[in-house]
Parts: sequence; C-alpha cells; structure tokens
Amino acid sequence: MSSARLSQGDVLRMSSLFVRTLREDPAEAEVASHKLLVRAGYIRRAAPGIYSWLPLGLRVLAKIEAIVREEMTAIGGQEVHFPALLPREPYEATGRWEEYGPNLFRLKDRKEADYLLAPTHEEMFALLVKDLYSSYKDLPVILFQIQTKYRDEARPRAGLIRGREFVMKDSYSFDVRDEGLEVSYQKHREAYEKIFTRLGLDYVIVSAMSGAMGGSRSEEFLSPSAIGEDTFVRSPGGYAANVEAVVTPVPEAIPYDDAPAAHVEDTPDTPTIATLVDLANEKFPRPDRPWTAADTLKNVVLALRHPDGTREVVVVGVPGDREVDLKRVEAALSPAEPEAATDEDFARFPQLVKGYIGPQALGPQGEQVEGPDGEKVPAVRYLLDPRVVPGTRWITGANEQGRHVFDLVAGRDFTSDGTVEAAEVRPGDPAPDGSGPLELARGIEMGHIFQLGRKYAEALGLQVLDENGKQAVVTMGSYGVGVTRALAALAEANHDDKGLAWPAHVAPAHVHLVATGKDAAVFDAAAALADDLAARGVEVLYDDRPKVSPGVKFKDAELLGAPLIVVVGKGLADGLVEVRPRAGEAEQLPVAEAAAAVAERVATLLA
Ligand code: ATP
Ligand code: MG
Repeated sequence: MSSARLSQGDVLRMSSLFVRTLREDPAEAEVASHKLLVRAGYIRRAAPGIYSWLPLGLRVLAKIEAIVREEMTAIGGQEVHFPALLPREPYEATGRWEEYGPNLFRLKDRKEADYLLAPTHEEMFALLVKDLYSSYKDLPVILFQIQTKYRDEARPRAGLIRGREFVMKDSYSFDVRDEGLEVSYQKHREAYEKIFTRLGLDYVIVSAMSGAMGGSRSEEFLSPSAIGEDTFVRSPGGYAANVEAVVTPVPEAIPYDDAPAAHVEDTPDTPTIATLVDLANEKFPRPDRPWTAADTLKNVVLALRHPDGTREVVVVGVPGDREVDLKRVEAALSPAEPEAATDEDFARFPQLVKGYIGPQALGPQGEQVEGPDGEKVPAVRYLLDPRVVPGTRWITGANEQGRHVFDLVAGRDFTSDGTVEAAEVRPGDPAPDGSGPLELARGIEMGHIFQLGRKYAEALGLQVLDENGKQAVVTMGSYGVGVTRALAALAEANHDDKGLAWPAHVAPAHVHLVATGKDAAVFDAAAALADDLAARGVEVLYDDRPKVSPGVKFKDAELLGAPLIVVVGKGLADGLVEVRPRAGEAEQLPVAEAAAAVAERVATLLA
C-alpha cells in the first residue's frame, strides 16, 4: 500500500470541534468561495477585507503553507520572519512611503514616530542582507517568509481573494551579477510551477507589468477563473501576457504631403461616436471608403491622483472604436491612480468642451493655450494611443459645441505629450510578437515573480565586495505567492451547490465519518473506525454528535468538503459501512475491511 504520504492521522470530533455551520449565505458575500468558507465555519469576517481563522480554515492554510515551504526550501530558500509593524525610514529611503499612497496603513507610536503595516518587505530583506553580508562570496542567497501583509485596498472583495490583511509567501534573491539574478528568477519560476501543480490550481504564466515595484522582467501566475480581476491574453503562437502589459505594435508613420487640409464642420446632435460616424458618412462622405469609428479620435478626460496627493487632469486620445481601459492606464501611469474626471475637474479647464474635445485645445504642461473666449488657460497634458502615428488622419472634436474637425493629421496639425497604453485590448488584436491574434480570458493572480534589479539595493546602499575587491551593488529579485488567496481560489475551483469539495492534499481532513441513528453499537463501531483510520495516518472528521439528524450531518459533510464521506448507520446490522467520494457514487464495504480500504483510497487521492 502506498501510504508514504499518510503519516499523521488524527480525529476531530464534531461534538467538540469549534465550528458552527450556517445555512444562509453571508449578506456581503458575492462569490462562492467567500460564501462557502464562511458558511462552513472556516473563516469569520472581522472587518471589511479582514478575517478571523477558525480551526478548519487554519488546517487548510497550514497545508497550503507546507507545500509552499517545501518548494521554497527545495530551491535553497531559507525561511526567516519579519514583523508586520515597521518603521517609516526604510520605506522613505526607497520612496515607497509616499508612492504607496492610500494603500499603505500608516500609524504613529506614542512618541509620534511614523510606522506602517508592511504591504511587502523588499526594504527589510535588503537591509538584513546589508547588515550581515559584505562579500560576493556570501551570495547568492534566497530568503523567504510566510507572513501577514496589510494593504488598504480600495475595493476589498471576494473574501480572501482581495483582503486588506492577507498571508503572502514573499521571497527575495540577492546576486552580484545579472546572470545570477536570471538563475534565481528561473529557480523561482520552476518552484512556482511545482507549487501550483501540487496545489491542483490551473495556472497560466503571463508577462506582467512591474508597476510601482520598478525592475525589468516580471511574470504572473494567473489561475483562469470567471471571477478573476485580471484579464490576460494568449496567442496561438504562445504569447501570454496580462492585458496591462500588452504593448501595442506601432504602425509605420504615413506620408501626409497629399493629405487635405483640416476643416471644421457643423455636426449637430452627434453626442456619440456612432452618431458622428453616421453623420460623417451622410454629409461628408469619403471618396475611397466609408468612415468608421476607427477614423475618429476620442479624447477622454481623466483625473490622476498622484501619491503626493495632487490631482492632475489629463486627456487620453484613443481611436473611437476602442474604450479606455482604466486598469491599463493605471499600470502605465503607476504610481498615479486614474479615475474618471468629475464636473469639478472640467470646471477647472473651460477649454474642455464635453463631447467635442480636440487636441488643439490641449498641450504641454505648464503652458498656456487659448480658451474658448480667446483668454489664456493652463494646458492639459495630452497622451495618445500609440496607433496615432504621424500622418494618420482623424475626425475629432473642434472644441466647440456641435462641431468636429475633419482631416486633422497627427504630426502636422497636432502633437502630444507622449503616448500611453490606454486603449482596451480586444480579441483578435495582433500579438506584439507577431504570433497571431489574441484571445482574452480572466484569471486570479496567484503569484508574481520580478527581476527587481538594483533599484532597492541602490536606494538602501546594499553593496558587497566583488571578485576584484570593488564595491558592487547587489541585484535583487522579489517573488510573491498569495497564500490566503490560494486557499480561496482552491475553494472557488472546487465546490458545487452543496458546498466545498477539497482536493485531498489541502482538505482539513481526508475523511468525513458520519455516525447516524441512536444505536450505541453504531457509535462504538464508528469511533473504532475513526481510531483505526487515524492509526493508519488518515485525518478523520468524525461526526459523533448524538442528537443530530442524519440529514443535517450529511448536509454538513457536503458543506465542509472532505474528499471521502464514510457512513456508519443502519447497514452496520448487516456488517456494512458506506463509502463515497464527496461527489460520487456510494459503495458498501464490510466493516472489518473498511479501515484498510478507506486508507488505501486516501493514499491514492494523495498520490
Ligand atoms: P493585485 O494586482 O491582485 O492587487 P499585486 O500585484 O498588488 O496584486 P503583489 O504585490 O504582486 O500583488 O503580491 C504578490 C501576491 O500576493 C499576488 O500575486 C497575490 O497572489 C497576493 N495578493 C496581493 N494582494 C492581495 C490581497 N489584497 N489579498 C490577497 N492576496 C493578495
Ligand atoms: Mg502582482
């Protein structure tokens, strides 16, 4: 019998286990994992995005952590543990005290000194290595922790999936040379593949944006799921990226010597792109082909919240057949956070005529441009989609109510303050590497690996003596796994309308053993079976409650989600017990053989 994985069995008795199952979904829960983890008594909400852990929840969490820990240790990672409560100074040194903006929990001690609850720990790891190491001979080193993080997320949601307190495995690699960082990164990539495979979570590795972290190469491990907040793209040729990281292929500039001069036209009642295109085709037809939405330049007004608290109004120009994707803008302009402009924002810039904004009214920051009544007003920063290359011809707003300008040529009639990846990515768009049309899907970000490079080491003075006796700035990698998020993603991927249905290797117990009826012989036989299973290394959740109906017990078994359900009841009179997988067919087994047979099945499930 392959019982190698069965080592430490135990028996949890429902009569004394600290759990209360609920029949009703918690009011605030939207996704299945959140509802079921609360209903099954794994977690309880303490505050928005903050949860208390009950015994069953902790057992699952410990198993996930054990898998993560084993794979990190296997690549040479050494476990350490940092406080969550940290002083301001290291984060000040790297600029993140400010850059993190409202996502950072900041607090003061009694002496009015600034502290924070760490959202991630690059600074502390770098300082620890700086404290203790001084030579290239000490490197490479990989350090990790499994630890609680704090982020004051704007939208905590889906229970553990986006919490404000959550457990992350974070590791950091330290190397002298770039090639060393490449090796450390690759080791993590492989460790993550093993972790998610062992957890039984589907994953896709996608190119990612490094965002506020800086650094160069970065990839995410996304678990495909309809409830995921990330959108990713894939091409037939193997390109895969978070939609935030998709770089638009830039078309060749077009000669515009022969382009007609720009002309302003009356376009009454054209509040939408569709109405504008219809009117253009009716009144100003093109000789070569009809106008389409892609010929219009849509100028969208956004407000950027900068980490220092300032609010900047910017205009983003995209082809009119595409929406602005705020998550792409956010990734592109991080750490600034974009949002839709308010009426107050518009009021500050009278040259922005809602619905009829054109590039002519925009311009470089700090400069003055002509307002609607000929007065001077401050210019608004204008960022363009990369497709708007010199020579492209556009219909766009004329900065006057009910009027548009036609044949406005980029590079001839207007310029911008730069480009921005603001436009949505659509199915069928070409992959940036030429590997075919993109398809889109949603996923949950389970892990993220970064080549940070020397930014943090530089800011914190982390140097070692290299082979030539010269000071060399260390290059770092940073690698995270969302541990509590993984638990929720597993619940999300493994449930039905009755409850949770854990894979055996993360289930709080392997077997849910139910004793039914009032017969003392039944309870004696069930208790003996529980002990026998435990002795064989099986973890048993034994429902020994004397006065609870079989119906309630079965419902609880299905809600709690152990992979095997064993019933000792009426059949015992004929020497039989029932065994069935959480979502499968029941089978009758002779009671004398039950322990060995069930242990064998558990071993198979764990293999
Ligand atoms: P997201 O884009 O989902 O906000 P992130 O990119 O900010 O995540 P990282 O800084 O890369 O997150 O953190 C590493 C890992 O920690 C993520 O891949 C994710 O699995 C997990 N994680 C991040 N934020 C949360 C959160 N609020 N709740 C639970 N897990 C989280
Ligand atoms: Mg990330």
